[in-house]
Amino acid sequence: MKKIINKNLEKPIQKYRLYIQLFFVAIVLWIGVEFYLFTTFLESGGISKFYERPPGVEAFLPISSLMSMYYFLVSGEIHSAHPAGLFIFIAILGISFVFGKSFCSWVCPIGFISESLGDFGEKIQKKLFKKRIKMPKLLDYPLRSLKYLLLGFFVYSIFFTMTTVALKHFLDSSYNIISDVKMYYFFVNISRFALIVIAALFVLSIVFRNFWCRYLCPYGALLGFFSLLSPLKIKRNKESCIDCNLCAKACPSFIKVDKVSTVFSDECSTCMSCVDVCPVENTLELKPVLGKNRFPKKWIAAGILGIYFLILSVGIFSGNWQNKVSKEEYLELYKDINSIGHIRSSNDIDRLNQEALKSNQEK
Ligand code: SF4
Ligand code: SF4
Repeated sequence: MKKIINKNLEKPIQKYRLYIQLFFVAIVLWIGVEFYLFTTFLESGGISKFYERPPGVEAFLPISSLMSMYYFLVSGEIHSAHPAGLFIFIAILGISFVFGKSFCSWVCPIGFISESLGDFGEKIQKKLFKKRIKMPKLLDYPLRSLKYLLLGFFVYSIFFTMTTVALKHFLDSSYNIISDVKMYYFFVNISRFALIVIAALFVLSIVFRNFWCRYLCPYGALLGFFSLLSPLKIKRNKESCIDCNLCAKACPSFIKVDKVSTVFSDECSTCMSCVDVCPVENTLELKPVLGKNRFPKKWIAAGILGIYFLILSVGIFSGNWQNKVSKEEYLELYKDINSIGHIRSSNDIDRLNQEALKSNQEK
């Protein structure tokens, strides 16, 4: 008979995961306040006190960061418009490569909000229906492919339709430089339509756990893809497993952990919820794909923070953190902020390619 050993189990790590999530939420709020102060300077036309623009805001410009990354790969240069965005992007890819899609469950503030709404929804659902509501399988698979379609669209538009000259033209453009300010005003002066979409996503995230992350987030899709390359996976020891099903019940991504030997899924966010609830020692653990040694839980938190801040430090200490745009340039750009347009379609990319070609010929 299989024996339950629950005395010497490693301590649950969820409390530390929550602390780390709250730490990143606090950083985002701090960046928000600093960015607000920076915009007050722009709005005053340069009369009021100048506050430095926080470079961390570039974490919210993933498309620009993806373009910077591509530009870096083809030219070997770090573009100066949003250098912090590039390092944050590399740091996120770095932790996904080592610890799977851990960014989503340990760092991302949107992931934290999504998880909190899901927890809230789960409590109500368990009270009302005595179980969690799940998206019907017939809808779940096609919906999960949506985020990959969005990612595919961005990757195709950037990597397959833009020339290197057009890429640089875009990164140098007024739109790219002031895109963080435009994003700020998108939320400050939010349209009724955008508000309805956000409200709908909130409600859907209460009903269906992680609705945004599971079905729509292209960033999550990219990290999910990278996570498949990660050398560390959740592994189940079939010999000692007592088939209690607690791990599958605890999994926020609805992975059937109790039915597999190794969790090999783009939806696994290395949240460790399954490992924390497993009542049998040495049964469910994070291990190397090809090895047998357990990766201690406490080292996951340290590893994620270590990789993330190490890569950010490279950006900071190599002088590639603050951009080189002066406050005078920002004030000039701010005057025309409403006429600086977005890139909305493949026609805009064609136009960008042509403009880049023209300006290159003129030089
Ligand atoms: S399999 Fe385990 S680590 Fe992965 S998402 Fe599910 S609960 Fe989290
Ligand atoms: S929690 Fe999962 S892995 Fe652990 S004993 Fe139960 S079924 Fe097996």
